Amino acid sequence: MATELEASRLLVFQAAALKDQGQPFNLQASMAKLKATETCMKITTDAVQVLGGYGYIEEFKVERYMREAKMLQLVEGTSQIQRLIISRGL
Ligand SMILES: Cc1cc2nc3c(=O)[nH]c(=O)nc-3n(C[C@H](O)[C@H](O)[C@H](O)COP(=O)(O)OP(=O)(O)OC[C@H]3O[C@@H](n4cnc5c(N)ncnc54)[C@H](O)[C@@H]3O)c2cc1C
Repeated sequence: MATELEASRLLVFQAAALKDQGQPFNLQASMAKLKATETCMKITTDAVQVLGGYGYIEEFKVERYMREAKMLQLVEGTSQIQRLIISRGL
């Protein structure tokens, strides 16, 4: 989980650095959005699994994290649309 999170963070930083430098960043931004949100979904799903029943009930925050991760895969361009942008960019 930590390794995937760190890899996602680096992709986000790379896209942000390109933007800061005034260079094209559409491809890297789509890769970062795709990787980071897919990773969020995987990590939070695994966290619910690790915690068992406690992962599912509202008294623990992880169930909310999982719902929010699903939303992040949709808003501001779904994962499928990010893949389209990436394939065009390549
Ligand atoms: C909580 C939440 C907050 C939101 N906030 C905002 C906001 O602030 N501003 C805003 O503008 N929008 C917002 N949205 C809307 C969001 O951007 C859209 O839900 C998103 O663009 C997907 O559009 P859609 O729901 O019409 O799904 P559709 O476009 O109908 O897509 C349905 C599914 O088909 C897939 N799909 C669509 N086209 C293709 C294709 N060509 N190839 C492959 N797969 C495809 C999609 O990836 C998706 O999984 C929000 C949505 C949610 C759930």
